[in-house]
Amino acid sequence: MNDLRFTTPPVLGSEIGAIEDAIRRRKLSGDGRYTALCEQWLEARLGCARALLTHSCTAALEMAALLLDLQSGDEVIMPSFTFSSTANAVVLRGATPVFVDVDPKTMNMDVDRVEQLITTATKAIFAVHYAGLPPDMEKLQAIANRRSIALVEDAAQSLGSTYRGKPAGTHSSLATISFHETKNIVSGEGGALIVNDPALVERAVILREKGTNRQKFLQGLTDKYTWVDVGSSYLPSELIAAYLLEQLNAVDRITAKRIELWDAYHAALQPALRFGATLQPLPDRSATHNGHLFYVLLPDAGKRAGFLSAMKSVGIQCTFHYVPLHSSPAGLKFGRAPDGCPMTETTAARLVRFPMHFDMTIKDVERVAAAAIDVLRDMAS
Ligand SMILES: *Cc1c(COP(=O)(O)O)cnc(C)c1O
Repeated sequence: MNDLRFTTPPVLGSEIGAIEDAIRRRKLSGDGRYTALCEQWLEARLGCARALLTHSCTAALEMAALLLDLQSGDEVIMPSFTFSSTANAVVLRGATPVFVDVDPKTMNMDVDRVEQLITTATKAIFAVHYAGLPPDMEKLQAIANRRSIALVEDAAQSLGSTYRGKPAGTHSSLATISFHETKNIVSGEGGALIVNDPALVERAVILREKGTNRQKFLQGLTDKYTWVDVGSSYLPSELIAAYLLEQLNAVDRITAKRIELWDAYHAALQPALRFGATLQPLPDRSATHNGHLFYVLLPDAGKRAGFLSAMKSVGIQCTFHYVPLHSSPAGLKFGRAPDGCPMTETTAARLVRFPMHFDMTIKDVERVAAAAIDVLRDMAS
C-alpha cells in the first residue's frame, strides 16, 4: 500500500492561472491587485477593521508585538504548548513570555489559570487556537478588559473556525493567521494580520511598509514619501497573493472536507478508548473547529516512540507536536513558567497527530484508524 503522508499542501489546480495573470500584469511586489483581493476577502469574511497580508504568521505576530509597543520589562501570558513564533515575537521586543498551563481536554491555554499570572508588568495575553479550536474567548476578554491588558489571538491554525457564531480571529484587538503549507488554506509561506481595533490600522500599515508613509503617499494624502516610524518588510509578493486568492475562495470546500475526515477519525477510533487512548474532543456548543488536525493522547508517554514507529512500519506517517516552550532551551532562557505547566508536560508527551490533509479520503482515515487500534491493542496486552 502507498505511504500515507502526514501532511501535504492543497493544490486546487486554478492557482497557476492566477499566478500567470499576476505575471502578465507586471506587478510582482506586494500591494497589487491580488494582495487587495485577498485582503478584501478576509475583511468581508471576518468583518475586521483591516486585514493585512504578511509573508508569514510569524511576521504578523511580530507586527502585533510592535503595535502593542512591547518592551523590556513587559510580560505576555501565553500557553507553553505553542509554536516558537508566538514567543519569539515577544522576546524580539525584549519582553518576557509567561507560560500558562493547558487545559488537557483541548490543549488550549487553561483560561482559569491566566488571571493569577497577571502582574503589574503584564501587557497582553496571546491566546492560541490549538487545532483550530478557540479557547473560552469570552472569559479571556473579561480578564483583559478588567485588567486593562491587550488580547491577541494567534489564530494561525483557525481560519474557518468560529467562536459564539463569529469567526475565529475577531475576538481580540489583533489576530494572526498562517497560510504556511501545513495549514488548511495555504500559499507556501504566508500570513495575515487581522486588525480588529480600528485605532491600530494606520500604524499597522506603516509598520508593514518599512516604517514609511508609502500608502498615504500613494493615496495622495501626503506630498512626501518618507520614514515615519519603525517597521520592516512584511508584505508578500503578488505571486504569493495570487495563489492564496484561489485557496481563500475554496475555504468552505476545504473546511468541509477536513471536517468530514475529522468526524470519520472520531467515529472510527472509538474502539481505541478501550486501550487507554483519549480522543481529541468534539467542540462544545460555544465553538466550531476547522478540522485542522486530529490528535490522540496515548495511555502513557513511554509508548509514543513505539507507536510512531509501528505506524511508520505500515506506511503511515504520524507525529508528535510541540515540545512545551517553558522546558525548551530558549524558553528557559527567555521565559518564565510560574505555575510550572505540569499538565502541558504530561499531556504533550502523550500526544500523537494523525495524517490530515485535503487529498485524503475516508478510506485513508479508516486505514489509519484500523492500524492505530491494532498497535494500541498490541501495546495494551
Ligand atoms: C503555524 C503556526 C505559526 C507560524 O506560522 P508561519 O506562517 O509559519 O509563520 C505560529 N503559531 C502557531 C500556533 C502556528 O500553528
